[in-house]
Amino acid sequence: MEEKVRVRFAPSPTGPLHIGSARTALFNYLYAKKNGGVFALRFEDTDKERSQKVFEENILAGIKWLRLEADEIYYQSKRENSYQSALKKLTERGLIYESDGGVYFKIPVENKKIIVDDIVRGKVEFDSKDFDDLVLFKKDGTPTFHFANVVDDIEMKITHVIRGEDHLSNTPKHILLYEALDATPPKFAHISLILNPDRSKMSKRSGDVDLDEYIRAGYLPEALINFLVQLGWSDPESREFLTMSEIIQSFDLSRVQKGGAVFDIKHLNHLNHHYLMQKSLDEYMQLAEPFIKQFAGDKALLESAIKLIQDRAQILSDIPELISYFFTQPEYDTPLLIFKKSSPEQTSKGLSVALKVLEKVSPKDWTKEKLQSILDEAISSESLLPGDLFWPIRVALSGQEGSPSPVELLEAFGKEESISRIKIAINKLGV
Ligand code: GLU
Repeated sequence: MEEKVRVRFAPSPTGPLHIGSARTALFNYLYAKKNGGVFALRFEDTDKERSQKVFEENILAGIKWLRLEADEIYYQSKRENSYQSALKKLTERGLIYESDGGVYFKIPVENKKIIVDDIVRGKVEFDSKDFDDLVLFKKDGTPTFHFANVVDDIEMKITHVIRGEDHLSNTPKHILLYEALDATPPKFAHISLILNPDRSKMSKRSGDVDLDEYIRAGYLPEALINFLVQLGWSDPESREFLTMSEIIQSFDLSRVQKGGAVFDIKHLNHLNHHYLMQKSLDEYMQLAEPFIKQFAGDKALLESAIKLIQDRAQILSDIPELISYFFTQPEYDTPLLIFKKSSPEQTSKGLSVALKVLEKVSPKDWTKEKLQSILDEAISSESLLPGDLFWPIRVALSGQEGSPSPVELLEAFGKEESISRIKIAINKLGV
């Protein structure tokens, strides 16, 4: 019988959840789900000085936000007994010597070739003579990363170790520890690091690396999941947008690429825009809520503003800037009111005609369809060019060249506010 797949994500809670670690967690999760296995979360928190509860909480919250909840959770700091008994076993085998107050593990074979048969990278050869003896316990009595990591992977019956490429050079040492502890090493898959577009290693200095920063900017979990999985893996059917269950179905470690995966923020924005567009107005309002607290007063206006910009925001934090003119008179330079080669006089005439007809529109007719036909009629009866009327209305109301359509804006603002803004524009033109 095939043994049950058991994988683990093993962060050290010494900092907030890194976007690269989130991807490692995702690959582990997918591999477990794909194979009907177990996805464990193990906090490697033996470094008492650097490990912090806030980071543990941050990692748990990040994993939950991404909907990668773990089936089992462990804390190395609570597993002291396991490390002590493994040490006892090694001591009984004569593989241990003490030196300088730390306990060392003697690498048992000099000049031994160790081959790591990696699922992603193929066979990688190491020579044990290149390693120093391994420290198993630090002076403060806590186990080192290598020791606790291997002891736990054995006890937790981990079948596949899927982790960052930066751990590849540790793997031959781990293999020696497995052998010393009489255990069969798991299979290894070292996934490539995430790179900046210039192929340098992605780091704090070169951009946002904490998952939190992406949450705060208003990315959606489904966009990040699609983005992260496509960093280093590609769907055999080349689909761009996949649901979690579609990803689980097609995911395979054999399609994970060896080379570094370049972080392309434009692609992430594009995915996020796609998922934002799929939301109903209600869902969108809920998601936007934390980003638009300053506009909370007029709910009806807020809703119509959101409705009009829903297709424009790539991330939720774009929203305040996109809707601010709904709530305050926009600032703009007067020449922006003038369409292409037109003149201040023609523009002023267009706005005055619009003002005259709009003042007569009854509230029940204040809909974008009616307003469109009323203004179209005014253009033809006054022999105006559409650009001399619709363009300056757009700018008068929004202060922008690229806004929702003028009649949509009129409808959203209502009669009183629309008229007041058109009057301000006429005054600005001063002719
Ligand atoms: N605590 C290690 C890290 O955060 C885990 C390495 C592993 O997955 O084996 O890099």
